[in-house]
Amino acid sequence: MTALGTENAFKLGADIARCEARGMDVVRLNLGEPDAESAPHINAAAIEAILAGNSHYCDPAGLPSLRRAIASQLERTRKIEIDPDRVIVTTGGKPSIGYTMQAYVDPGDEVIYPSPGFPIYESWVTFVGGTPVPLHLREADGFAVTAEALRRCITPRTKVIILNSPSNPTGGVLTAGQLAEIALVIQTRCSDDVRVYSDEIYEHIVFDGERHASIASQPGMAERTIIASGHSKGFAMTGWRLGYAVLPTVEEAARFKQLNINVVSCVPPFVQEGGRAALESTRSEVVVARMVAAFQERRDRVVQMLNEIPGVHCAMPKGAFYVFPNVEGVCRRLGLIAAHSALPPDERARTSPSAMLQRFLLERHGVATMDRNSFGRIGVKGEHYLRLSIATAMDRLEMGIRRISDASEDDAGCSDFLSSGVGGTGLETGRSRATSGSTR
Ligand code: PMP
Repeated sequence: MTALGTENAFKLGADIARCEARGMDVVRLNLGEPDAESAPHINAAAIEAILAGNSHYCDPAGLPSLRRAIASQLERTRKIEIDPDRVIVTTGGKPSIGYTMQAYVDPGDEVIYPSPGFPIYESWVTFVGGTPVPLHLREADGFAVTAEALRRCITPRTKVIILNSPSNPTGGVLTAGQLAEIALVIQTRCSDDVRVYSDEIYEHIVFDGERHASIASQPGMAERTIIASGHSKGFAMTGWRLGYAVLPTVEEAARFKQLNINVVSCVPPFVQEGGRAALESTRSEVVVARMVAAFQERRDRVVQMLNEIPGVHCAMPKGAFYVFPNVEGVCRRLGLIAAHSALPPDERARTSPSAMLQRFLLERHGVATMDRNSFGRIGVKGEHYLRLSIATAMDRLEMGIRRISDASEDDAGCSDFLSSGVGGTGLETGRSRATSGSTR
């Protein structure tokens, strides 16, 4: 179990509650979920299904009607043929990450994944005894996976390559052109049985009039790609727990179905009916477009405000609902980099300057963010970033950024905070043997 990581976004809730219990007002910029509710027509479809008695076990692969709806949405948007028998419905987008590791990765197999990236990738790779190969995304490349960086990570032991566009936490988006270059590298350097796990859960949230592009649409890639997506983000349905994966073959889909049988039996049928309404109703388009427009407006304001803070540099995200500012200047200014270097080795290994800043912001200035190390821990020394969610009302967002700005000048408060002893981050620290050792 020590090799299994976690998602700090869930853990932070307890820290926020502690601050609020002390009477503090906390602006929550840590949340990875839309602030909108699921739409009325989606809610109605699920309620109707419950009232109609649709409350029993159902097909472990997913309701055939929902799998047909998913296949047809993917055919339309990815321009590829999808047999509904290759679609497996899961309880959220998350399970198929673990299913992929369990189904494809033997101990010692290498898995390439983006860093910073969704922490559950690294967690599962180490848990199944795979060798984690973080592909470090660079701010200078717009946090995009480049074909050249990917090429350097591929070896004969590579088994799975994880892509995530639009990306959590950076908001980076891969264009069709970039995906074509990546596809070429994969086709020339990997055997046919290497799988691409393409996490497209933010597919609906792309800004500036651009459209989501999938690696599965590249010639020759559908046969190698697991497309993973779900309803949590685009349809604001995080609590419904509805997601899906499209496997390259019916045989591979059968493995995911078997994992579903072993873990959850099936996804609640009324949840699936709500999910089908989300995909099939023309009303969804309007609701999603309205939400994306609100995110874009907030993104523009937040990036502008962040870039006005001395010591902060924030790239303009192209999708998802996060900004990922570089806060190295603030960490340096407040003495956090020096304070971190001066910690005893075991404490130093358990935290980082951005984690110390994250904690200072929460405990002393009432603003909750996520630190860099919550998005992959291997080989990230010297990277000083925070993730802020923009899925919060504009006035609260503005208040949160103003608090960050005030904190960045609060030298006295920060010295006092440091002298009160901040060894840990309060968040998971990844002390596991696997996470600290077996990377390339
Ligand atoms: N992939 C990414 C990149 C995510 O950000 C998330 C949620 N934060 C998930 C998968 C999991 O989504 P779900 O809540 O549907 O399990």
